[in-house]
Amino acid sequence: VNNTKTALVTGANKGIGFAIAEGLGSLGFAVAVGARDETRRGEAVARLRAGGTNAFGVALDVTSDESVTAAAASIEEQAGRLDVLVNNAGIAGRFEDGAQDPTTLDLDVARTVLETNVLGVIRVTNAMLPLLRRATAPRIVNMSSNMGSLTLQTGPVMAAYAPSKSMLNSVTAQYARRFADTNIIVNLACPGYVATDFTGFAGERTPQQGAAIALRLATLPDDGPRGGFFDDQGTVAW
Ligand code: NDP
Repeated sequence: VNNTKTALVTGANKGIGFAIAEGLGSLGFAVAVGARDETRRGEAVARLRAGGTNAFGVALDVTSDESVTAAAASIEEQAGRLDVLVNNAGIAGRFEDGAQDPTTLDLDVARTVLETNVLGVIRVTNAMLPLLRRATAPRIVNMSSNMGSLTLQTGPVMAAYAPSKSMLNSVTAQYARRFADTNIIVNLACPGYVATDFTGFAGERTPQQGAAIALRLATLPDDGPRGGFFDDQGTVAW
């Protein structure tokens, strides 16, 4: 019996994803570092191992069916099952020159953002489901944003990115309903405003602080919440 739990973090080579990988490592998980670039992936795995995390690299571009299928096969071969999936990979999309002003929205930007932030999550989740179903307490965490909240209407006007997170929230609610009578628990995390490449390092929170809510949702007990939207303060308004 393999008692080591395995987690896959997408976009784990930097930012919040890297901090989630580190955190899961310190909780005793073997961590599959999902990253699309071979060099960045290798460097992240080396840094994680140097910090004591049992990490292994998995080539993963969430926008590619072939890449995601191969990633699932690689995890099956190396771990045999998956206990935790953190769908963290995400992009803001280009926003210069009115590209995300709704009145001048660059539809190619919108397509790319949706392909990554929404369809990427569905693609990865569905490819990993057979492995998650082999775990005794499967957990899925989808990294969202309060910018996806229709109630809060927060952050700058970003007509590709914000709706992508609204749709991710909606899709996650559908998964939670579908998993209602199973042991698979899926929730949404909002990391707050975090200093990463994503924000041009403008956020006031550290990647570790941004990772905390994802770590909590990745390790929920069997009677934990399902299909919720959470940050460090509690429930985020949808
Ligand atoms: P970063 O830009 O620092 O990291 C994003 C990660 O996603 C990188 O590892 C990147 O890989 C990866 N990624 C992007 N596209 C793909 C793809 N097609 N396939 C695989 N990996 C991909 O961002 P953050 O760490 O700040 O953000 C992480 C998540 O948190 C995102 O979903 C974001 O929307 C969300 N979030 C962040 C906030 C913040 O304040 N930072 C606030 C609210 C939500 P690569 O290095 O190859 O580009």
